[in-house]
Amino acid sequence: MAIIEARNLTKVYGRQTACREICLSVEEGQIFGLLGPNGAGKSTLVKMLVGLVYPTAGEARVAGYSPQDIRGRRQVGFLPENFRLHGWLKGEELLTFHARLAGLDGRAASRRAAEVLELVGLAGEGQKLVANYSKGMQQRLGLAAALVGDPRVVFLDEPTSALDPLGRRQVRQILLALKEAGKTVFLNSHLLSEVEQVCDRVAIINRGMVVASGRLVELQSGP
Ligand code: ADP
Ligand code: ADP
Repeated sequence: MAIIEARNLTKVYGRQTACREICLSVEEGQIFGLLGPNGAGKSTLVKMLVGLVYPTAGEARVAGYSPQDIRGRRQVGFLPENFRLHGWLKGEELLTFHARLAGLDGRAASRRAAEVLELVGLAGEGQKLVANYSKGMQQRLGLAAALVGDPRVVFLDEPTSALDPLGRRQVRQILLALKEAGKTVFLNSHLLSEVEQVCDRVAIINRGMVVASGRLVELQSGP
């Protein structure tokens, strides 16, 4: 059964239809890419799937729950686009705080913070102030924050948009490690190169509509 399921999801802002009757499903354990130009509706779709934007019409289920259902909250991680972290905390403090928000107590929260720092390749940087992190490090720390509650599904909105090629490669490797661990990853991107390097399946979105979906090789070979 699909772990992410959208049925006719629609979001209208005034006269603007950001998403129009979007249907898609993602199998557990896959890296799924939502590919499309800026303004296509990617962020809006993800915000509906994580329960931040209420759809105008249609419905969704993620890990067995409606996105608004708080029983599903521990199943889902989310890294918003252009995520900014609080600079006056140390990396490890920030993650410990997120771990507490995710329901872990004192020692378990610090332990989990150390684990996710390691996972994103920042094990040696936890005692530095986030303000002193490079963009790439901040992006990986944001990813660590999204993973701290050990979610089954993680939604990443343009996670490499501010990064150089090395930063992109690091994020790519983290995504593959997540897949290895059985997680489901939903990746928004406007870059074909990014999607084709890691994604098992892709949907192409344009002007709020899914215009194609499947394995990338199938889409590229044309109708
Ligand atoms: P709502 O979801 O009720 O429209 P928001 O707080 O998201 O409220 O946005 C308030 C207003 O700001 C919107 O109605 C829109 O005019 C503008 N706005 C916000 N985000 C965007 C965006 N990404 N693109 C265009 N306009 C936006
Ligand atoms: P993408 O993530 O693909 O760049 P978005 O989902 O951010 O696309 O935006 C899709 C369309 O919906 C855009 O035209 C954008 O301006 C509009 N939009 C997004 N959020 C809002 C909002 N809160 N209010 C009004 N318009 C919005």
